[in-house]
Amino acid sequence: MMSKVPIVSQPTPLERLPRLSETLGIDLFVKRDDLAGPSLGGNKSRQLEYYFGAALEAGADTVLITGAVQSNFVRLTAAVAATLGMQAVVQLEDRVGDHSQEYQAGGNALLCDLLGARILRYPKGEDEAGADAALHTHAEILRAERYKPYVIHLSEGHPPLGALGYVDAAHEILAQNSGFDFFVVASGSGSTHSGLLAGLRGAGSTARVIGSCVRRPARAQAARISRIISRLSDISNDARAVKESDIEIWDGALAPGYGQPGQPAVDAMKLMARQAGLVLDPVYTSKSFAAIPALVESGQIPRGSRVCFVHTGGLGALGAYGTAIRDIL
Ligand SMILES: *Cc1c(COP(=O)(O)O)cnc(C)c1O
Repeated sequence: MMSKVPIVSQPTPLERLPRLSETLGIDLFVKRDDLAGPSLGGNKSRQLEYYFGAALEAGADTVLITGAVQSNFVRLTAAVAATLGMQAVVQLEDRVGDHSQEYQAGGNALLCDLLGARILRYPKGEDEAGADAALHTHAEILRAERYKPYVIHLSEGHPPLGALGYVDAAHEILAQNSGFDFFVVASGSGSTHSGLLAGLRGAGSTARVIGSCVRRPARAQAARISRIISRLSDISNDARAVKESDIEIWDGALAPGYGQPGQPAVDAMKLMARQAGLVLDPVYTSKSFAAIPALVESGQIPRGSRVCFVHTGGLGALGAYGTAIRDIL
């Protein structure tokens, strides 16, 4: 058993969306993981239960993590560290190329400051191994100062502890409602998608899981999920029940690229806001939710299907995207 720190009040709500269900001709529910954990919540709260579990077990007093300037993972790490009396060192990568004050200092970046994190900057955005190496260099400096650092890795090749949080979430959802035909979830680093799929298959569910790309195109993402499932099998029996054909990816709302909302993403935000009163974020959940109307339209999600959309949060970034969203609202 991996150690775990309780961060999320479980279960998070599972709500039916009656107006959207009627509009789309499906039975649509939302798993409210936007309410999971502190400081505006999100899916990373479940992942951090395991990372902080490992950090505390290692006797750490400082946690280091890297992410985009508007990363929710980084913001939640700062929040959880604050609740546990630990120091967070967060490294913000230039992944999006937006140098406006709004993007660089608003939203999650502002929250990291507010939450008391130490902020480092990293000039590249497509260099996972380099970003992690920079964290390790900083961890060595901290160690020389007698701190006890723990690094949460971004790059592949480490045990996917975060995915265990979504193995748990799958069991939590099935206990709330075991009748879903489809799950739709954002697929970025892949921990959430992989863990959810593993937990469902491990529990015997044959529900289809559509991972909606927010970071890289479908082929590359499918290969990444496959590698994570294989590493997850070393630490979770559930992952051994996943077959290659279970990995389903949609990338129809990815353009123009990571951290940049296109028209389908903003249309999805409007649909969810105006028919369910729920706010999606511009980087992840707008692009993942966009899969549902598109796949219903194409017939790949048949009318009448019971569909669970996993709202993974991301609301801390909203303020940093005001101009980008307003321009295409
Ligand atoms: C990180 C993130 C995702 C993607 O989750 P992964 O586990 O990295 O694939 C989805 N939604 C939000 C809001 C996120 O912050």
